[in-house]
Amino acid sequence: TTTETLLEVSNIEVIYNHVILVLKGVSLKVPKGGITALLGGNGAGKTTTLKAISNLLRSERGEVTKGSIRYRGEAVHAADPAELVRRGVIQVMEGRHCFEHLTVEENLLTGFYTRKAGKGEMEADLDKVYSYFPRLKERRKSQAGYTSGGEQQMCAIGRAMMAKPETILLDEPSMGLAPQLVEEIFGIVKNLNEQEGVSFLLAEQNTNVALRFAHYGYILESGRVVMDGPAKNLRENPDVKEFYLGMS
Ligand code: ATP
Repeated sequence: TTTETLLEVSNIEVIYNHVILVLKGVSLKVPKGGITALLGGNGAGKTTTLKAISNLLRSERGEVTKGSIRYRGEAVHAADPAELVRRGVIQVMEGRHCFEHLTVEENLLTGFYTRKAGKGEMEADLDKVYSYFPRLKERRKSQAGYTSGGEQQMCAIGRAMMAKPETILLDEPSMGLAPQLVEEIFGIVKNLNEQEGVSFLLAEQNTNVALRFAHYGYILESGRVVMDGPAKNLRENPDVKEFYLGMS
């Protein structure tokens, strides 16, 4: 059986401020139903890759100068960010970006408004999000700015789920969180993938946790993919063990 490719990035180059070449020909594929990890150290180009996909580079004076990005076979780099959302791709930015002055529940509801659906469906989907994130249910009336870092990350993912996405681009979900919370959040991502069929492309510096939950991984170094393979193979690769998993 062949799995359908949702997202295909082919040999993209990204330049900031017309001169700084940051991505030097990055290619990757996100299959339907998979969790794909984009790994690499600080500054390797993970965030830039996600922003290139969701067309968020312009505000950073960045530009895709070579290569192509396709979603279900159709070019996306010429599209505006809202169009990609309509096609089912939602990005959860690094640093979470909840609306601090809204309650957790109001934040979740902002994810729903891109859809043409009624109140009944809204309530059902809210309940569904709460079933995956019981902590958010407990905190639903709290102002998001006063919830913990972990809860804000959950809120950002929950809000993305309210848009009923086919694919979520998740930037550094582990950032700034205690190990136990990182496990909890990755566990929920896995459940959303298995039970709701959401495909994920996640950028992560924490190679160890990412390779335990992802199916496939790409390792970026200085704007190039230096290695890729099934997560299981990467976990057992001696170079990955030495340089990314801290074992040797
Ligand atoms: P992290 O998320 O840990 O910061 P990353 O792998 O996501 O790392 P990027 O944020 O994509 O890396 O950055 C890749 C490189 O691009 C870095 O060298 C960074 O300094 C540079 N860079 C990022 N944004 C800009 C910008 N707006 N202008 C110029 N250079 C930038």
